[in-house]
Amino acid sequence: MIRDNYGRTISYLRLSITDRCNLNCFYCRPCKVTSFIPHNNILTYEDMYHLLETAAKMDVQKVRLTGGEPFARRDILYFLSRIKSGIPGMDLRLTTNATLIAGKIKALKDVGIEALNISLDTLDRDKYQKITGRDFLKNVLTSIERCLEHGIRVKINVVALKGVNDDELENFVGLALSKPVDVRFIEFMPIGQKTLWRKQHFWPGDAIVSAAEKVTRLEPLSHEGKNHGPARIYALPEGAGRLGIISPLSNHFCETCNRLRITADGRLRTCLFSDRDYRLLPLIRSSKISPERLKTVLERAGLNKPMGNELAARDRGPEKSLCQRVMSSIGG
Ligand code: SAM
Repeated sequence: MIRDNYGRTISYLRLSITDRCNLNCFYCRPCKVTSFIPHNNILTYEDMYHLLETAAKMDVQKVRLTGGEPFARRDILYFLSRIKSGIPGMDLRLTTNATLIAGKIKALKDVGIEALNISLDTLDRDKYQKITGRDFLKNVLTSIERCLEHGIRVKINVVALKGVNDDELENFVGLALSKPVDVRFIEFMPIGQKTLWRKQHFWPGDAIVSAAEKVTRLEPLSHEGKNHGPARIYALPEGAGRLGIISPLSNHFCETCNRLRITADGRLRTCLFSDRDYRLLPLIRSSKISPERLKTVLERAGLNKPMGNELAARDRGPEKSLCQRVMSSIGG
């Protein structure tokens, strides 16, 4: 089991399987990416499987595959079925922009994927194009429908951007009322060098709740299960779905943070807001020689996991980023 100096237990891993993405969301990757991680430095599926197997032995129970765009990596279905068959107890899901999944939805269900987190920041076609650089809104909405038809649960993650999508709150609440989906607003965070985060774009969680209460009745739900995430969840008595708020800035959840992040080049980050990382790739590849070393590094790194809110409170200046690496290469 991985425990840290604050008594937190690590049970959740976010694994970025590629730094490549087919979208260019302005808030995620603000400057044009001209170089990607060289192929040889990317963890192979074999590397990642070995890492997940080790993590599972250390009581990590929940894994989210992310990116870049995870479905931009070739043979992802093979990797999913390998994890499902080799580590059957693992709660495995993916975070995706859902633009590349159309032909894979049945196969996802068949390999045992029960739920997807789908990122979607607008329900307006022109705005979608402005935010992402691509005209894929229709494609995404159709894939959400197909997922629900195949019994795959859907959580829709919306980055809350004042002046960009705050005028769409009613439409997003409408979506959660009309479909059995969780619509979760995530506060915009100043992540990555040259972040476009500005105070005027910040739409805090409490303001979103107040605005949503004007549209429909919200019933706060207590966190469910031991693997609950950081979202405040509200049932919608008048509708089919639920509403969620994730507020890492205005109402941080660092005391209960149970997660580690691993980038596509095998760097372990113990906190989203800290650029300190631990290079796992050589350890993974040499772990046939010394299998215990990977475990030891995971334990030591976990032990030194910082309190993110303390890092965030450092004097950074009003509009500086919390960390240097961009979100598309960390994985969210
Ligand atoms: N491509 C996948 C997707 O779209 O879900 C996975 C990677 S993406 C980096 C993961 C999540 O991070 C997305 O929901 C995205 O909206 C979110 N994200 C990116 N930059 C963010 C920021 N500055 N603040 C809050 N969330 C952000």
